[in-house]
Amino acid sequence: MLSNLDQQPADALLALIKLHSADPRADKIDLGVGVYRTGQGATPVFGAIKAAEQKLVDTQNSKSYLGPEGDMGFVHALMPYIFGKGDPTMSGRIDGMQAPGGTGAVRLAVALAKKSGVTRIIMGLPSWPNHAQILGDLAVELVSFKHAGADGKVDMDALRGAIAAAEAGDALLLHGCCHNPTGIDYTPAQWDEIADLIAAKGLLPILDLAYQGLGKGMEEDAYGVRKVLSRVPEALIAYSCDKNFGMYRDRVGAIYVMAETAEVLNRVLSNGHALARAAWSMPPDHGGAAVRLILEDPALTAMWLDELDTMRSRMAHVRARLAEAGSAGAIDLTPLGHQNGLFSVLPLSGEQILKLREQHGIYMAGSGRVNIAGLTSGNIDKFIADLAAVSG
Ligand code: PMP
Repeated sequence: MLSNLDQQPADALLALIKLHSADPRADKIDLGVGVYRTGQGATPVFGAIKAAEQKLVDTQNSKSYLGPEGDMGFVHALMPYIFGKGDPTMSGRIDGMQAPGGTGAVRLAVALAKKSGVTRIIMGLPSWPNHAQILGDLAVELVSFKHAGADGKVDMDALRGAIAAAEAGDALLLHGCCHNPTGIDYTPAQWDEIADLIAAKGLLPILDLAYQGLGKGMEEDAYGVRKVLSRVPEALIAYSCDKNFGMYRDRVGAIYVMAETAEVLNRVLSNGHALARAAWSMPPDHGGAAVRLILEDPALTAMWLDELDTMRSRMAHVRARLAEAGSAGAIDLTPLGHQNGLFSVLPLSGEQILKLREQHGIYMAGSGRVNIAGLTSGNIDKFIADLAAVSG
C-alpha cells in the first residue's frame, strides 16, 4: 500500500535553510526563514520566557493530562490583549482553547468552519503557503482574490469584488496584521469598510493573528480583529504566540470563537474539543504555561512587552533605512517603509533571485519574500548594492 504514495516536494524554505548553512561565504545573508533576528543575527529566547520557564520548573508539581482545551489560564490571560481590556469575552460570547501553534489554530478554525457547513473560503493571495495547504488537506475550496497591487498597496477593489461575489455560507480568511508574505496591511479605515462588508454579506470571518505586536503595537495590531468582531455575529480567531513570545518550536497558539449566544459558543467549543481529541488529543503544555506565567506576573509582563518593543523598533528602523535608500537598481524600496512585520515581497524574477543567491550569497524565498529581520547595520548596504547589481 505504502508504495502507492507519490513523492512530495520538499518544503522550499527548509531546503533554503540547508543551502544557506552549507554556504561558506562569510558575508552571506539569510532572508529566508521566518524568525525574528537581532542586530547580531541571533534568535534568542526572550528574557521573560527564561524567567517564566525557571518559575515553571520550580513550581510545576504534575505533568498529568489537562484536556483537549489545554491550559485555560493561558487561553484566558491572552484575551484582554486580543479583544480589549473592557469586556474581552463580549459578555460571554467569546472563549477559546489552546492549540499547537498558530498552525494548529488555523487548522482547527478551518475544520470547525467545514463542520458547520462552510465549503468555500475566500482568501487574498499571496498568503502564507500553509493556508492553501490546510484548505486542500481539509477539502475546502479556496476562492482567491489579489491581496495587493504592484504599487505595494492593498487591492481594495479586488477584496470588494470577492466579497460581492461571495455566497451566503462562505468564510473569509484575513490576516489580522503583518500580512505574510507582503507586509501590506489594511488601514483602520479599510478595516472599518471590510467589517461592514462582511457583516452585510453574512460571511463567517476567520481571522489569523500570528504577529500581534510586531507591526505597530499590541493595541494597534488588534484593531482589525476588534473592528470585525464589533460588526458580525460570529467569528473564528486563530492566534499564535510563536513570534510575539519567540516560542517558535514550542508551538504556542490558541483558537477563539465568537458566537451569537453563550449556548452556541459552548456547542462550537465542544466540537473544537472533539476535533482536537481526534487530531492531537491535547496541545503541548510547556510554552503555553510559560506564556501564562508571564501574563500572570506584572513584572514579567512588563519585561515581555519591553522585549517585544525592542523587536518592533528594530524592524521599523531597518524598514526606514530601506525606504530612505529609495531604490536599488530598478527596485523601489520606499513601500517597504510603510509595510509591517517580518516580511515584504520584492518584485524580483526567479532568475534574479537565483543570481542573488549564487553570486552574492543572499538567500530569500522563491516568491521574492524577504525577512526584514535578516538585515542588520552590518549587511544592509551590501544587500542594497547587490539588489541594484541584479536588477539595475
Ligand atoms: N499564520 C500566519 C499568517 C503565519 O505566518 C504563521 C507562521 N509562519 C502561522 C499562522 C502559524 O504560526 P505557528 O508557527 O505558531 O504555527
